[in-house]
This record gives sequence, C-alpha cells and structure tokens, in this order.
Amino acid sequence: MTAQIIDGKQVAAEMRAELKDEAAKLKKKGIVPGLGVILVGEDPASQSYVTAKERACEDIGLYSDDNRLAANTSQADLMALVEKMNNDPRINGILVQLPLPKGLNEAEVLLAIDPAKDVDGFHPMNVGKMVVGEKAFLPCTPHGVIQLLIRSGVKLEGAEVAIVGRSNIVGKPLANMLIQKNATGNATVTVCHTRTKNLAEHTRRADIVIAAAGRPNTVTADMVKDGVVVIDVGVNRVEDATKKRGYRLVGDVDFEAVKEKASFITPVPGGVGPMTITMLLYNTVESAKRAAGLAK
Ligand code: NAP
Repeated sequence: MTAQIIDGKQVAAEMRAELKDEAAKLKKKGIVPGLGVILVGEDPASQSYVTAKERACEDIGLYSDDNRLAANTSQADLMALVEKMNNDPRINGILVQLPLPKGLNEAEVLLAIDPAKDVDGFHPMNVGKMVVGEKAFLPCTPHGVIQLLIRSGVKLEGAEVAIVGRSNIVGKPLANMLIQKNATGNATVTVCHTRTKNLAEHTRRADIVIAAAGRPNTVTADMVKDGVVVIDVGVNRVEDATKKRGYRLVGDVDFEAVKEKASFITPVPGGVGPMTITMLLYNTVESAKRAAGLAK
C-alpha cells in the first residue's frame, strides 16, 4: 500500500478561503476581526513567523496591529501593552510571539492576556475549559492536526491513537481534544514520551500515529501497522550539503519507508505546518464573532 499524502497546504488554503468569506460577511456588519501581535527582540525565526502571521491576516481581510519591541523592553512595559490590547475593542486576539528574550517572565505575560482574546489557547482558563469539554480557544497546532484528520475523512470515533510527545503545546492538548465526547474526539489515546518502556508496542497497535517528538526517525516503518494514518508534527533540521542553506527540514517520521505501509501520511514540510497559522486566523475570527454575540 502506498499512502495518500495529506496536503496541509491544500487543506489550509481551503480553510483560509472559508475564513476569507466569513471575514467579508462580518465586514458587511461593520466587524473587522483584529489580531494584536507582540514581538520582543530580533530573533530571525520569530521575525519570520510574525511576518507570516501578519501577512496571513491581511490575505483574508483581518486587521493586524504590529508591535515590535526592543529586546531590552521591561516586563512592566510589556505588561502595559498587553493590558492596552485587552482593552482595545479593535483587537480580538492577542499573540505574544514566544520565546521571549531572557529576563522576561513568559508565564506572567501569558496569564495577563484576557482569556477572551487568547487566540493561542495557552491561558490556563482556556486549557481548563478544553479539558472539561467546554467551549474554548483550542491551541493552534493540535487543532490543526485534528482538522487535517477530519478533512481527510479519517474516522476518529473508536480509533486507537498513539501520540509520541507530551508537551504543553502539542502532545497534551491533542490527547485531551481526542478523548472528548464530541465529533472531534471519541478516540482512545495513548500518550508516549521518553520514559515510555516500549514505544513500538504502542505505535504498532495504533490506527493513527501522531509524532510530536522533535527528533528525526522517531517513528520507523517497523513501528507501524499496515494501513496506519500518520501525522508528523515534527520539524527538524538535518545537514544537507546539496542545499544552499546547508540543511533541509524533516519530520519525526521516516517518511519514505512509512508511506509504503500507511493509508494516509503528512509530509514535512507541507503537512501540519501550514495549518498552525490557519487555526490562529480561525480563532481570531471566532473571537470577533463571540465579541459581537454572533458565535454559535
Ligand atoms: P518538546 O516540548 O521538545 O516535546 C517533545 C516531546 O517528545 C516530549 O514530551 C518528549 O518526552 C518526547 N520525546 C522526545 N523524543 C522522544 C522519543 N525518542 N521517544 C518518545 N518520546 C520522545 O517539543 P514540542 O514543542 O511538542 O514540538 C515537537 C515537534 O513538533 C518539534 O519538532 C517542533 O518543532 C514541532 N512543532 C511543529 C509545529 C508546527 O506548526 N508544525 C508546531 C509546534 C511544534 P519527555 O516529555 O519525556 O521529554
């Protein structure tokens, strides 16, 4: 069996087109969803992520408020900016690009964001709501994974899922979403990590394997069963002298070998990556609808 490739760029483009339509409808009602972006310091990777997020907002007709602050910005100034955005009705979502430079207290900043504008879904209020199955802003990468599965026609109900990784931004929230008693859940989930005794035993049993370990070749062909669905969240740089920049990006899965056994698989790049920003846009539109009393 050769797997069907789940094209994250395609799914993201479909979702962005839907969001663009929705933004146009809201505009007719005088509502323009707004994202407030805060970037502290000059980390090149963070700069390019923030630029991509702002461009994506523009593309679908959202307002973005760009705040680029010097690396030596004080905690008090940063907190004051968050507070200003909390009180600004044009801003429906607040994004603080992480990591913050050393010396700034990340947890304090994230806690200061109004949970109603926490479009990253990292505030404990939203995390708690998600865990108990209440309406919450879902964190973007795990929500993007679930959208990729659903939109590819993969059945979650009753599926055995093995997640490799238990971070607060991917593994744990994903496991929580997948066990909820709703249409995007009802799976049976095993969460694996570095202390898991026999990783392959768990992945081999799974109908769906989701790799979020941050290490190339964590999931190899001998570790999965025929017909498995594989979602690769990992993004790793490996040296490659044939590339101008000296490296290429790979996931956590041995893509070439695993695709011969899987029924569906995501590539890296071009799988989960494009979905993360899309879900941020989704949450920002959702937040604007909630603020206007239009959310379902
Ligand atoms: P993280 O915080 O480093 O967590 C990695 C997790 O994987 C940890 O729970 C770790 O276990 C586990 N792990 C590592 N090696 C393992 C192994 N050999 N066997 C079993 N478990 C193992 O990473 P993260 O932030 O969740 O990110 C994971 C990957 O996804 C990274 O490559 C990251 O770049 C990528 N990512 C991509 C996107 C996107 O938009 N595409 C977004 C976020 C992250 P312990 O807890 O025991 O240490």
